[in-house]
Amino acid sequence: MNRRPLVIAIDGPAGSGKGTLAAALARRFGLAHLDTGRLYRATAAIVLRGGGNPADAEVAAAAARRLDFALLADPGLRDEAVGNAASVVAGIPEVRAALLAFQREFAAHPPKPARGAVLDGRDIGTVVCPDAAVKLYVTASAAERARRRVKELRESGAPAIYEAVLQDIEERDARDSLRRVAPLAAAPDAIEIDTTRLDPDAVLEQASKLVTRALAAGH
Ligand code: C5P
Repeated sequence: MNRRPLVIAIDGPAGSGKGTLAAALARRFGLAHLDTGRLYRATAAIVLRGGGNPADAEVAAAAARRLDFALLADPGLRDEAVGNAASVVAGIPEVRAALLAFQREFAAHPPKPARGAVLDGRDIGTVVCPDAAVKLYVTASAAERARRRVKELRESGAPAIYEAVLQDIEERDARDSLRRVAPLAAAPDAIEIDTTRLDPDAVLEQASKLVTRALAAGH
């Protein structure tokens, strides 16, 4: 019997449905969930609240090093401005290095009583947890991701213009995919799930089969 915690790595671009899937898998299989985007968002929020420039490597790295993990639950982290600044601080190697140990520790020792962990982000299968038992790469077309985001914004009462949201998504994709350190990429052994035409339940069923198989194999 393998006693290592079961680790599920989920990567993909913004709005692909990876966060929804990660939370649902965690519930279904009794796993702890870490939305790693929140670490970058919290770092960006500290920089912005201090009046700093997210592109300033020294300021951003200092913010990542003194991250208060209580901040991860702050609803303000969902703001568009924080998300954009997050993708800027995420391109700074010292920021990524400062956040790496926390993510690996969470995967290796998930909070009890969880029997494992689901981490979702951009580089989980490639950098943070390359030995994860299950690696998923969740995608959807940029147009569909923009449509989902507009719906979400309008439901929360915020005004949203489709073209502006789409442009924002495309800019963020480019920044995340083209950066030098830990770019958004599928691990060679990741299984891709394209959610463009799937609802969240269908995505969960597809992913659950893979997790069940990993558990049967001894994880
Ligand atoms: O997923 P979310 O939109 O919350 O992530 C915010 C930003 O944080 C992303 O655009 C990306 O640049 C960065 N990020 C990252 N690596 C991760 C998770 C998020 O670079 N593992």
